[in-house]
Amino acid sequence: MIDVERIRRDFPILGREVYGKPLVYLDNAATTQKPQCVIDAISEAYCNVNANVHRGIHFLSQQATDMMEAARDKVRQFIGAGSTGEIIFTRGTTESMNLLASSFAQAFLKEGDEVIISGMEHHSNIVPWQIQAGRYGFKLKVIPVTDLGELDMDAFSAMLSDKTKLVSITHVSNVLGTVNPVSEIISLAHSRGIPVAVDGAQSVPHIKVDVKELGADFYAFSGHKIYGPTGIGVLYGRKELLEKMPPYQGGGEMIKRVTFEKTTYNELPYKFEAGTPDYVGSIALATALDYVQAIGLDTIAQYENELCDYAISKLTQIPGMRIIGNSEHRSAVVSFLVGNIHPSDMGTLLDRLGIAVRTGHHCAEPLMDRMGIPGTVRASFSFYNTKAEIDTLSAGIERVKRMF
Ligand code: PMP
Repeated sequence: MIDVERIRRDFPILGREVYGKPLVYLDNAATTQKPQCVIDAISEAYCNVNANVHRGIHFLSQQATDMMEAARDKVRQFIGAGSTGEIIFTRGTTESMNLLASSFAQAFLKEGDEVIISGMEHHSNIVPWQIQAGRYGFKLKVIPVTDLGELDMDAFSAMLSDKTKLVSITHVSNVLGTVNPVSEIISLAHSRGIPVAVDGAQSVPHIKVDVKELGADFYAFSGHKIYGPTGIGVLYGRKELLEKMPPYQGGGEMIKRVTFEKTTYNELPYKFEAGTPDYVGSIALATALDYVQAIGLDTIAQYENELCDYAISKLTQIPGMRIIGNSEHRSAVVSFLVGNIHPSDMGTLLDRLGIAVRTGHHCAEPLMDRMGIPGTVRASFSFYNTKAEIDTLSAGIERVKRMF
């Protein structure tokens, strides 16, 4: 059971007003708010242990290094990875996917090869592949999305071939809320020896993820969407693959020995972490993961599913309401359109009532084209949201409707 009132007191921003109205924050898929313990961890790191990591022999540098490496181990444990060498700190999911696309393509992809993505990907799991496809000449194949907002699994099976070198897929759609059958996708791909990368930006904060149990070869997520700071994220990769992949960036930290003739690279994960890392970010991310674990991901998933079901039952009572994405397998996101009201008009007017939702294409323009819509209004939930806030959203939508 979630004690929402107690949890809300951990998040200072939830007590504020906007336009003289209590803030109703329903934009959690874009970024989550931060509990006081995460804010304190950042402040504590700068107040007491700030020093550059890894290269220093002095006390503070070692302490900061130990804390960063403990954070790496926390991430490893949180997602069920085998070793800390498989946990690469990045700036976020976007950088994780760019690193992956760049290094994987350089190591493994050539003309005639194919990479499979899906029709519901965020731009960060489309464009990095397009950039590399332009360089190496491989082709992108796209799994179609059904009217319900699910992946067409028959089409996916039919797409797999000897040419397929990687499947890169989102676990949860940031627009439709659909939870994709990632285990099934991985089994199908693995039965042909094809590795699978998973964009976990919208799954890790909401459902228990165990990369080993799933069998994912790569898994990416962002700290700021799981109550941690901005500017820190993770790419998990299976050691056997990471070892065969070249560095993404060059510089300090990622080398073993540099001469003008030849440079050798550091061991995993440092080979992929050029330059001073955001060690404060990783320390605070570990605090956020501890916070989430203390509540429990099963408890979180159950509560957020309840919120989602409640939101759908409330919103579908509004005449003219059209929910975009109707999969049974859903997590924490509800996208919708009402009558002919443009999503940005709806969002702007809801904002005046203190309700923060996101509107537009949600960095998934191909999915908007597939659905034949310009964008949606998206309400996305966290364990600190309440049914009363969903009532406020529903009343807000009714009010906006009356204005049109
Ligand atoms: N993938 C998905 C599914 C997302 O929802 C997002 C963020 N909207 C991203 C990737 C990109 O994450 P970030 O901006 O934190 O790099």
